[in-house]
Amino acid sequence: MPAAGRGERLGAGIPKQYLPLLGRPMLEWSLAPFLADAACRGVVVVAAAGDIHWSALRARLSRPVREAVGGATRADSVASGLAALRAARAGDDDWVLVHDAARPCVTAAEIDALRAAVGADPQAAGGLLALPLADTLKRGDAAHGALRSAGTLSRESLWRALTPQMFRLGALQRALEAAARDGRSPTDEAQALEWQGLAPRLVAGEATNLKVTTQADVTLAEAILAARGAVAARPAAVSGVRP
Ligand code: C5P
Repeated sequence: MPAAGRGERLGAGIPKQYLPLLGRPMLEWSLAPFLADAACRGVVVVAAAGDIHWSALRARLSRPVREAVGGATRADSVASGLAALRAARAGDDDWVLVHDAARPCVTAAEIDALRAAVGADPQAAGGLLALPLADTLKRGDAAHGALRSAGTLSRESLWRALTPQMFRLGALQRALEAAARDGRSPTDEAQALEWQGLAPRLVAGEATNLKVTTQADVTLAEAILAARGAVAARPAAVSGVRP
């Protein structure tokens, strides 16, 4: 789980992944379904160097979680997390799910759907949760003063990429290393695979799996979590699982 972003735009000096949602840090909500998932053999949180919020949260989690130090870009942070999995003796063919710390409303059902769809197609180059675009898309143009609509783009076959995204560890590492060698930084993991000529599978996610970016998203995320009656975000302990 990449959680090394330093975005403090939303909160009073707190990186957004630690903003309280219904009294718990966003990262804790984002982690909960993975920590409660018996099929998930280990979790790595990629935190910024010297992140005191992470040390405090880690101490409260009911299941041991590995940590890695984040990098300058999201792709660097993910690569650091993958290296931590390697150090924990994960192999080339092990599946890895990468999930944004800033998506606290992901559900166990979405994770199951992704795992089932990608797992049913083992030859596929992994996959990702995504949503077909519902809105009409406009190209904005401010060249002549006021911002105006300069055209309508076809939304046919366009999807919004969500997370988690699921790949074989070796394939994802190779794709990120190739991107870094080429001086390119993918905005999600699937893009790194696409640059290798691969076509990850699109699996329908939920509109509630939003990425918290604005204050309005904070309000929405809290409403979604509250509507689920999610008072107890504390993940269930899973016994017998190696960290
Ligand atoms: O900035 P944005 O919301 O797109 O970040 C998506 C996720 O990637 C967040 O969970 C953020 O903490 C993480 N990130 C990271 N390292 C960076 C930049 C972003 O782990 N250098």
